[in-house]
Amino acid sequence: MALYVYKFGGTSVGSVERIKSVAEKVKKVQDQGDQIIVVLSAMSGETNRLIALAKQMQTQPTDREMDVLISTGEQVTVALLCMALHELGCKATSYTGTQVKILTDSAFTKARIREIEDIKIRADLDGGKIVVVAGFQGVDEQGNITTLGRGGSDTTAVALAAALKADECHIYTDVDGVYTTDPRVEPKARRLNHITFEEMLEMASLGSKVLQIRSVEFAGKYNVALRVLSSFKEGCGTLITYEESQMESALISGIAFNRDEAKLTITGVPDLPGVAYKILGPIADANIEVDMIVQNIADDATTDFTFTVDRNNYQRAKAILEESCVELGARKVTGDNAIVKVSIVGVGMRSHAGIASMMFKTLASEGINIRMIATSEIKISVVVDEKYLELAVRALHAAFELDQITAEA
Ligand code: ASP
Ligand code: MG
Repeated sequence: MALYVYKFGGTSVGSVERIKSVAEKVKKVQDQGDQIIVVLSAMSGETNRLIALAKQMQTQPTDREMDVLISTGEQVTVALLCMALHELGCKATSYTGTQVKILTDSAFTKARIREIEDIKIRADLDGGKIVVVAGFQGVDEQGNITTLGRGGSDTTAVALAAALKADECHIYTDVDGVYTTDPRVEPKARRLNHITFEEMLEMASLGSKVLQIRSVEFAGKYNVALRVLSSFKEGCGTLITYEESQMESALISGIAFNRDEAKLTITGVPDLPGVAYKILGPIADANIEVDMIVQNIADDATTDFTFTVDRNNYQRAKAILEESCVELGARKVTGDNAIVKVSIVGVGMRSHAGIASMMFKTLASEGINIRMIATSEIKISVVVDEKYLELAVRALHAAFELDQITAEA
């Protein structure tokens, strides 16, 4: 007898009919003699609707009240699914995060799970029940409702799978797996049979939105076998594991991109100790996240410093940098918020030389100018003008033969 955790996203529970078909899918697992815990998101659009309601009440609602509000969407779906299961003759019980006791810290709207009580869940499973848990939420030491950040139901599912030592955690969503890139940009994108945790983590943090990043971190840490599949289409989806796949011998596994980028440059900065701190300190103090950072080698006694931020923070970051420019006696501040980041990801980079040069050659042959470059052990990112995004992704997809990957049905 195996224990599964199945998580269904918002579109999979977006209507009464869809909730009924989730119930049938879940029932099948029990019918084949296995145990199952189901984790649900709110109905699609519901969390956004609740956030919009809050904004009509107050421009800056407290995070505590936000969590009381936005955790309600998941309470609706878990109850409805249990009703659908009862209607099919199954025994099933729903729990909110508080009822399970998914204990988190008190960082409202972005809480982290500390511990999960498994007593009730175990007893239910052993009693032949299907356990249905509201995703995205927990409770802190003081009994306050907390939420885990947008997309947090994925993390609830993985955390439950880790805590209860489930055999597999299935994330059912509206795509049938993890793709080599976003099929909306490159229709030749292929589904991957396997991807490693490391690659998935890079893909997620680089803008591929299939899974919440934290859920992948969690799955890696506790070695939870994680599979992404479609709720609507049969298939084996994509398995995320430690091992590198032998089947897929492509040099890289995927291309990720992020459209929400902006870059800022400060030129003629005195090349002295502490300058990077003086530039980025005030940016960090304003709670603005910085992604890529490049500092050039100085040939007079000054240097140029460029970094990227989320496009939403561009104007604010620019204003801060202009003040620092005066203070540092630097030359000037320039910026560009019509840029994007395109990244290739793959553990194959560790054992193959020439991947970067192949990437640059491909972009050059399309006449795409590279504005910034950053690398890690398994990733190469470039910043290019926004108008080149589609072209860059498609050219790289072809050059690295990602359209040749053959996934099993
Ligand atoms: N309902 C939450 C959201 O929309 C959590 C989730 O769906 O994972 O972000
Ligand atoms: Mg989601």
